[in-house]
Amino acid sequence: MSSPLFDITGRLALVTGSSRGLGLALATGLARHGARVVLHGRNREALARAREQVAAAGDGAEVPAVSFDVTDAAAVRDGVTALVAEQGVPDILVNNAGIQRRAPFNDFDPRDWDDVVAANLSSAFYVSQQVTRGMAERGSGKVVNIGSVQSQLARQTIAPYSATKGGLVMLTKGMAADLARFNIQVNAISPGYFATEMNRALVEDEDFTRWVVDRTPARRWGRVEELVGTLVYLCSDAASFVSGQNVFVDGGMTAVV
Ligand code: NDP
Repeated sequence: MSSPLFDITGRLALVTGSSRGLGLALATGLARHGARVVLHGRNREALARAREQVAAAGDGAEVPAVSFDVTDAAAVRDGVTALVAEQGVPDILVNNAGIQRRAPFNDFDPRDWDDVVAANLSSAFYVSQQVTRGMAERGSGKVVNIGSVQSQLARQTIAPYSATKGGLVMLTKGMAADLARFNIQVNAISPGYFATEMNRALVEDEDFTRWVVDRTPARRWGRVEELVGTLVYLCSDAASFVSGQNVFVDGGMTAVV
């Protein structure tokens, strides 16, 4: 029997970067738990496939999708305005869209730094601001930012990525501080290593996979559906007094040296 405490049935949820990967798994999980999901991404073909998957996980009803570049503040404003006009103000916002670039620090191209900061950090600021203004007027809302174990642990070749994920955790706390008076809870989920498109090269690299297994007490990569329980909890009434937190879903990785 499901508990009303964790009931998110009918809640409108926008998940950025849900055309594939973790975002699609999170959107599918929310739909399976009764939320009305709005998908987001730029790749129309991937979005079309994602809409079918999420519809099948939910009640079969058509799943809306929006398409805008999260690094473009004006595009975000226009995209969210159109979404709100059509569907209403989301009850749940999941800031998941993000990118990865790898290079040794001294070779890291400043344009790649700008791209990573824009896609992983500025994006969450732009989308959140457009959505939480409406949430504040209504007097309720949940925002979940998708961080990473790299918000806490550094690794070679990804200093900019780590910097954005650390920044996202502090953005989470700052938003939680400002938005609590509107009954908006803002939290982060920081995943460990999950086999998605973003990590394709790493998954195929035997040495890297051996490192993941050795470094993770659970001794394996995460499965994307393993993020859903934490997300549903943070988006439910069960978490009505939980805000500004960063929950690691990482098989114990950040708990050990
Ligand atoms: P993917 O590369 O598989 O998916 C990224 C998603 O973000 C796609 O839907 C893509 O949509 C969207 N996206 C990227 N840039 C933009 C943009 N400028 N505008 C709009 N949409 C954009 O990545 P993952 O699923 O692996 O990662 C998702 C999130 O989870 C990221 O924030 C990542 O940092 C985080 N994460 C992932 C981990 C993992 O192990 N995979 C571990 C820890 C954190 P489209 O291509 O259609 O535009």
